[in-house]
Amino acid sequence: MNAHATPIHDPTALHAWVVALAHELGFALVGVTAPAESSRAAALRAWLDAGKHGEMTWMAETVEERCDPRRLLPSVASIICVADRYHDGSRDCEQIVQEPSEARGRIARYARSKDYHNLVRDRIHKLRHAMQKRFPDASFRLTGDIQPLMERDVHQAAFNGQIGKNTLMLVPGEGSWFVLGELHTSLVITPSTRPPAWNRDDPCGSCTRCIDACSTGAITPFSVDASKCIAYLTIEQRGTIGPEFFGAMNGWIFGCDDCQTVCPHCQPKKRRAVDERMGSVAARYEERLNSVPLLELLGWSEEDRARLIMSSALKRATLAMMKRNAVVLLAEHAAKHATTREAIEARLRSLQLDSTEDEVVREQCAIAIAWLASQRA
Ligand code: SF4
Ligand code: SF4
Repeated sequence: MNAHATPIHDPTALHAWVVALAHELGFALVGVTAPAESSRAAALRAWLDAGKHGEMTWMAETVEERCDPRRLLPSVASIICVADRYHDGSRDCEQIVQEPSEARGRIARYARSKDYHNLVRDRIHKLRHAMQKRFPDASFRLTGDIQPLMERDVHQAAFNGQIGKNTLMLVPGEGSWFVLGELHTSLVITPSTRPPAWNRDDPCGSCTRCIDACSTGAITPFSVDASKCIAYLTIEQRGTIGPEFFGAMNGWIFGCDDCQTVCPHCQPKKRRAVDERMGSVAARYEERLNSVPLLELLGWSEEDRARLIMSSALKRATLAMMKRNAVVLLAEHAAKHATTREAIEARLRSLQLDSTEDEVVREQCAIAIAWLASQRA
């Protein structure tokens, strides 16, 4: 693709050029939409009013930007939405967890490789660079997981996928194992059109598998109460995890894939004809760490954390948060495996009394010990 070629003034030709360029950069999904107020703005406001965002106060503070992408780049005329597949749906570590002597915490699949933020952002920068060369006067802005944008809605509007009852964007028949990014531009680009094979307004029909599988009861159709979601509890919440969640964490130390794993769209394909670009996982998403040993983690220093997880998305959780999560999982483990109970309780007690340890970790130990006692009673 020659980025120095004659400027394209036809929005449809520009669409074709941008899509080809993004695919050349390795993106599995590429769609374009015009900016507009989100169709789910009222639902977002109601969700915030109900406190379902938990401690994520920044979500409420940026609600206006979230509801309308024109606030991020006032000159925006088009949003180019790109996505990478990070997992192929094959089963893996559901079984890794519970050898009694070797309790491990599971890591959600998107966080097992190098940090996807960088993997997506670096190539969006390349896309922007190529476009800027051809259109020097155009404006651009990159967004991704950390900017205030209803990302999945924008991708749905660009026909990259549809939002399921678990609120994830999924590609019918291909699943939701995609990480997302966007490039906003002042260029007018013809929007993408709905794929003819999508014969329903939502991809779910009468299915309720994700709702049934969610161990904390966080999902109602097309809405997730973040304050009950394991992904939020392990990655976003800063304080202690309440005893009401003990027994429901399903071995997850960072994130949770349960509502994706059960989704019929996310199942590994008995490979009928597939779009190879969409169906295969690029080497850049190679798994490096799918779980961590819980007792060992309790002894980690900041250096250990940096060595093991700093180049992955796991770095979003602080050392204290990782230890807090490990405490909850170890209590769950001890409740299930009587032979490990004494040793785990002793470790939690010593951690609780360790004045050099973070206050949240020590408080979490107290909650865990009390919960274990209640299980015994
Ligand atoms: S990520 Fe886990 S806890 Fe959160 S909604 Fe899905 S199944 Fe429930
Ligand atoms: S599990 Fe069923 S209800 Fe949930 S997102 Fe997938 S298709 Fe929709």
